[in-house]
Amino acid sequence: MAAEPSAPEAAATATATVIDGRAVGAQVRERVRAGVEALRSEHGIEPGLATILVGEDPASELYVRRKREACAEAGIRSFHEPLDAATRASELTALIDRLNADPAVHGILLQLPLPAGLDAGAMTARIAPAKDVDGLHPVNAGLLAHGSPEAIVPCTPAGVMELLRAAGAELAGARAVVIGRSTLVGRPLASLLLGADATVTHCHSRTRDLAAVCREAEVVVAAAGVPRLVSADMVAAGATVIDVGTNRTDEGLLGDVDFDAVSRVAGAISPVPGGVGPMTIAMLLENTLRAARRTAEATVAA
Ligand code: NAP
Repeated sequence: MAAEPSAPEAAATATATVIDGRAVGAQVRERVRAGVEALRSEHGIEPGLATILVGEDPASELYVRRKREACAEAGIRSFHEPLDAATRASELTALIDRLNADPAVHGILLQLPLPAGLDAGAMTARIAPAKDVDGLHPVNAGLLAHGSPEAIVPCTPAGVMELLRAAGAELAGARAVVIGRSTLVGRPLASLLLGADATVTHCHSRTRDLAAVCREAEVVVAAAGVPRLVSADMVAAGATVIDVGTNRTDEGLLGDVDFDAVSRVAGAISPVPGGVGPMTIAMLLENTLRAARRTAEATVAA
């Protein structure tokens, strides 16, 4: 009979539960599809998403195509607005104003980055907050920072929260570390975790002894854009680790977490690819449905 492994040997071979973003994303898409159908049959409203793509960046073209395909699968109408790379700011604002006023359009997605000469912050702020399905308008960022349920939440952090829910992570009272403080991911995520009653420590490139800070946490979310930044010695046994990083390297697509090593220590871990990535488009669909539902609520209330 084989001898029982000693505690250190058992820890070395233990494997974390892999949080499957493709499966969770598929559940969200199905939930959205059912919600779209209900909105259509009960209120006669067909959710619509406008996508604006300025220029011909191949990666941006691919992202927009995927978003439009996902819309079609969910029953959401999409209106594509491709613009020339030489588009002037006045032309782009005129288009945004037209879409803001169009009742068939419930969400507006301005694909970033914009070509040089166009101010992404100013253009994002031009989108009506109620149609800002990327959640990047200062009004939505402010509502989220205030803990308001009215905020439209940026898609990637919303997807991280969905993965944590799916993994059964107990957030209330838990110590959570967020690595990265961008307006797109880190900041909104810290607000969401705080809203879920976690005790949040927010780290960035100036944080001293990141490893020691991370080792204290029951939840670690890495969104730094640094391949394999989070190593096994930085993670407490049994912690839940979510990897937002998407780094294209000579070795291929890598996350911010050393997946193989950390999965021998963590309790649950999201992979790259197949973790946060599939959640982002799913949450965009959900935000678009939510924006359309608000139109229905406003019509009923009027
Ligand atoms: P970003 O704007 O470049 O922000 C990176 C953040 O990480 C900054 O706050 C930076 O600190 C911090 N940081 C950088 N190096 C660090 C280090 N060594 N230690 C601790 N903190 C460090 O990036 P982002 O837009 O938030 O994206 C982060 C990553 O997520 C990227 O890999 C991106 O491709 C990925 N991403 C994935 C998705 C998805 O759908 N899967 C969506 C969005 C982003 P400072 O503020 O001090 O500079």
